[in-house]
Amino acid sequence: MAPSVAIIGAGFGGLCMAIRLERAGIRSYTVFEKAGDLGGTWRDNSYPGAGCDIPSHLYSYSFEKYTSWTRRYPEQPEILGYLEHCADKYDVRRKIRFRTEVLSAAFDGSKWQVSLGGEEPRTEAFDVVVMGVGQLNRPQLPDIPGMSEFEGVSFHSARWNHDHDLTGRRVAVIGNGSSAAQFVPRIAERVEHLRLFQRTPNWVIPKPDAAFGPMTRLAFHFVPGLQRAYREWIYRYAEGTLYPALAEGWSVGLLKQRALRHLHDQVPDPELRARLTPDYPPGCKRVVIDSTFYPALTRPNVSLVTDRIVRITPKGIETAGGSYDVDTIVYATGFKSTEFLAPMEVVGRDGLSLEERWKGGAEAYLGISLPAFPNLFMLYGPNTNLGHNSIVFMIECQVNHVMSCLSYLAGHGPIEVRPEVMAAWRRQLDSAMSRMVWGGGCQSWYKTADGRVTNNWPGPTTLYRRLTARAPLSAYRVVGAS
Ligand code: NAP
Repeated sequence: MAPSVAIIGAGFGGLCMAIRLERAGIRSYTVFEKAGDLGGTWRDNSYPGAGCDIPSHLYSYSFEKYTSWTRRYPEQPEILGYLEHCADKYDVRRKIRFRTEVLSAAFDGSKWQVSLGGEEPRTEAFDVVVMGVGQLNRPQLPDIPGMSEFEGVSFHSARWNHDHDLTGRRVAVIGNGSSAAQFVPRIAERVEHLRLFQRTPNWVIPKPDAAFGPMTRLAFHFVPGLQRAYREWIYRYAEGTLYPALAEGWSVGLLKQRALRHLHDQVPDPELRARLTPDYPPGCKRVVIDSTFYPALTRPNVSLVTDRIVRITPKGIETAGGSYDVDTIVYATGFKSTEFLAPMEVVGRDGLSLEERWKGGAEAYLGISLPAFPNLFMLYGPNTNLGHNSIVFMIECQVNHVMSCLSYLAGHGPIEVRPEVMAAWRRQLDSAMSRMVWGGGCQSWYKTADGRVTNNWPGPTTLYRRLTARAPLSAYRVVGAS
């Protein structure tokens, strides 16, 4: 009999898992989604200009090639539309229980007891739990004194307040990562004044966006192999050029040169350029891919503030260098990225809590599974984030792995990864990590406060595909068997 599967989250990960089960004829699954709609990060991040800086012909499922993308880098509504299209085409929407938050999951020796909040709180039992909650799902508000005393309107970029019209406002944006880089150019056009509070400059490279006209879209649709070849080209370019730059390879200098040239071309003022030039290696923090951010910073109604923020006052922001009155603050301050699966309480075999297990930082075999947590699988889990390629590619690799585990456990009972396999995996990861650019020289959301890189995958994605595609059964043991 097919195992019952609880899938948590209806974003790119959860939907991919559901579709693969559906296509395999396994209907004994339920997707739990705490929000009222599907889409995950592409539902939550609706700020002006939100989009993906990986081209959508690659940032999409390999099994659902879409030839209708209107541009190389479509914006959030189109990406969300794609996910809705997939959910409908593969008929998985009927299996999603919306407004149902999973509060906890506990393994009782044979099944997972999944506690549900929402309109009808209760506990349901499943053979398998697949976590598809992502890494960037919980906004991180900073801890700046006085925040609650601000008399204007404030919100996080991932919870954009669309009811608050920014036209003619004096706006402060705190943070200058990929999110801010996308919305600052859009809102700068209509605000009275925008002050961007930058703590650390980012490396920025151009985004070669272009619209796909009707003829190009028709060609993608009708010319055999064209869409596949284009997708393959984007993948190989990212893998062959960007990845080596993150692994101290041949293109390190090239990436830096490209970013410096971009800065020089777009920012004529040497003083502003100096303040926008990072002092750490490119890639240590996520490189911003955008061609409109720098020009926005050169507008007369935009200023860059680099003094340290001291406090938020009722009227604005006080820094070490002065005070700025504003009526709106947008916190583009990122996400609680290293707290994987939180705030869910997950308890494995013998009462071991995941929180306890991950005290030193989150980790998992292939980013997917853990000893003592039988039949629990993660999508986009620890050490599977990329700084250079498509996360959807990684998710599909993980789903392949989970599918082979499912066929094994269906005949044998609950399985868990062997502790010695996990230990060897950690050693390999540490060794691979030592040559990556993320370790020293910068703070980033890729790592914990004490510097352990818990989020990123340190190898080529071709290797990850190989590792996840091979039947992983020798890495697992049946729970209760000797
Ligand atoms: P982020 O990259 O984590 O950036 C957060 C920003 O807030 C940083 O500039 C940080 O400064 C600043 N900050 C945080 N706390 C602060 C404080 N107390 N005082 C002053 N500044 C503070 O967040 P994000 O821009 O939302 O992007 C997160 C990730 O989402 C990206 O790296 C990317 O992977 C993904 N994303 C992707 C796309 C895409 O197109 N694919 C678009 C948007 C986001 P420091 O740098 O000094 O810490």
